[in-house]
Amino acid sequence: MCGIVGYVGHRPALDVVLDGLRRLEYRGYDSAGVAVLDGGGLAVERKAGRLANLEARLDEVGRDGFAGTSGMGHTRWATHGAPIDRNSHPHRDTAERLAVVHNGIIENFAALRAELEAAGVELTSDTDTETVAHLVGQAYAAGETAGDLPASLRAVCRRLEGAFTLVVTHADEPDQVVAARRSSPLVVGLGEGETFVASDVSAFIEHTREAVELGQDQVVVITREGYTVTDFDGEPAEVKPFTVDWDLSAAEKGGHEYFMLKEIEEQPTALADTLRGHFADGRITLDEQRLSDQELRDIDKVFVVACGSAYHSGLVAKYAIEHWTRLPVEVELASEFRYRDPVLDRATLVVAISQSGETADTLEAVRHARGQKARVLAVCNTNGAQIPRESDAVLYTHAGPEIGVASTKAFLAQVAANYLVGLALAQARGTKYPDEVAREFHALAAMPDAVRTVLERTEQIKALGRELSDAKAVLFLGRHVGYPVALEGALKLKELAYMHAEGFAAGELKHGPIALIEEGLPVVVVMPSPKGRAVLHSKLVSNISEIQARGARTIVIAEEGDETVRPFADELIEVPAVPTLLQPLVSTVPLQILAAEIARSRGYDVDKPRNLAKSVTVE
Ligand code: GLU
Repeated sequence: MCGIVGYVGHRPALDVVLDGLRRLEYRGYDSAGVAVLDGGGLAVERKAGRLANLEARLDEVGRDGFAGTSGMGHTRWATHGAPIDRNSHPHRDTAERLAVVHNGIIENFAALRAELEAAGVELTSDTDTETVAHLVGQAYAAGETAGDLPASLRAVCRRLEGAFTLVVTHADEPDQVVAARRSSPLVVGLGEGETFVASDVSAFIEHTREAVELGQDQVVVITREGYTVTDFDGEPAEVKPFTVDWDLSAAEKGGHEYFMLKEIEEQPTALADTLRGHFADGRITLDEQRLSDQELRDIDKVFVVACGSAYHSGLVAKYAIEHWTRLPVEVELASEFRYRDPVLDRATLVVAISQSGETADTLEAVRHARGQKARVLAVCNTNGAQIPRESDAVLYTHAGPEIGVASTKAFLAQVAANYLVGLALAQARGTKYPDEVAREFHALAAMPDAVRTVLERTEQIKALGRELSDAKAVLFLGRHVGYPVALEGALKLKELAYMHAEGFAAGELKHGPIALIEEGLPVVVVMPSPKGRAVLHSKLVSNISEIQARGARTIVIAEEGDETVRPFADELIEVPAVPTLLQPLVSTVPLQILAAEIARSRGYDVDKPRNLAKSVTVE
């Protein structure tokens, strides 16, 4: 997500902070800003767009007020409020003596905002972050924590819900920068007479390799001499010092050779962040809903339109949405949708899924659908992008910027978001009781841990990937929700390893594809749970035995403890037991790791496959 740098030392803070922000650019952002403490004043500049825009702005206003040696900077990845100047960080309190930068989402910001407005505070941005600036400013100005910046921040953190890294500076405290962390990243860097805080070590690695990892719910004060850490109650807290032995480019990738591998590892967080804040007071909520519950009740069919991996996430969604809402769901490739005169009217809901929110095919599909009066709901990873802007309702995936061209964490987040869409429809239409919606949501909320368990098997899967790197082709089979997973596994292998790969519905095998099976051909089979629909499981076991009998090398993704399938698996990759509809969230992960490792062993650039672009803005 966003990038944060804080500094107290002996060099000009502006240079250190801007350099640090440049090092964090790889994380993706849509605006940037800095604050420097200088001669009793607080200088702030911020600007939408690239860092170059901020620097041009600093040149325009002059850098005179920015000569101090403590300060902070931020690159924003908007979650609340469009990426425009006034929503850029840092945000200030009314007295303009205190500044805050933030990474994450303050879930209870609406209540805090209402409280501030009732007390007469005028907010100048649409962000969740600005509320924190006013609250810390008030806590520092008066009351128990007056004049104590760390105590003021701690008191406010105790009131915050959600995920956040916050960094705070105050004009009256030029010798310290204070930061807090809950569920968002923050590390401290220890130099000679200078100390840093940052989203990751790449921001300060050129100055020091001595670092400290902060724990959950901790507040750190950095000064020129070092740092002190407490929990949110002010009690001393434990932290983990470490020495960074990565080079700069590995540091950006969290020690991995490729961003994609880091992004695969970030999937539990991407899922948790996507679900965060969407279930409160027993109800599912979307981010932006310009549709009433009555309009949702009037819907009589759903089209999901998307491309590539997003299309596969839509295929998964079809099973859940039809099951939960009893609405017919068609999943369409966005590039085909508008050219075949689909039957659309006011009672049609079109769910448009796009990581970037700019995918040209999907955008045109959205325009076509709206032209026919259909309602459009966007599922997208980029706040304020074109597709959400042109839609009636929006649900953002919070996967953070994805740099690897082949989608991983954005795909998993889309699957989760689509489930939320299904539950929101079921809730509005009354096809599920509130306690059933709650149960489904809580099952979803347990998925980040299930994905963590799969990630523990990374080494086993990589070893298999290395063995398969000489294969000429790989087939993928699945049934029910395992079928789109098979398609996604094959797509990953095509895009990353340039290998011939096909995904099939296992039941289709005998209608043609079984002719492809020959001695030694690797076939990956995505097994359903033996505890779910028994018939699906036993049919797939028969399919595996048929291909094994014809010489295929079977690689089976199956639930832990699935003994029936063991005799038919030449290789077995176990995933944790989860409800049937949620299985794609665990069974896709081994296929991503497999494809990345095959590509890596074939010597290909995993992050930038040939001929592909991350965001496809032409039809
Ligand atoms: N929620 C904050 C905003 O939208 C912070 C986003 C970020 O992590 O950059 O401004």
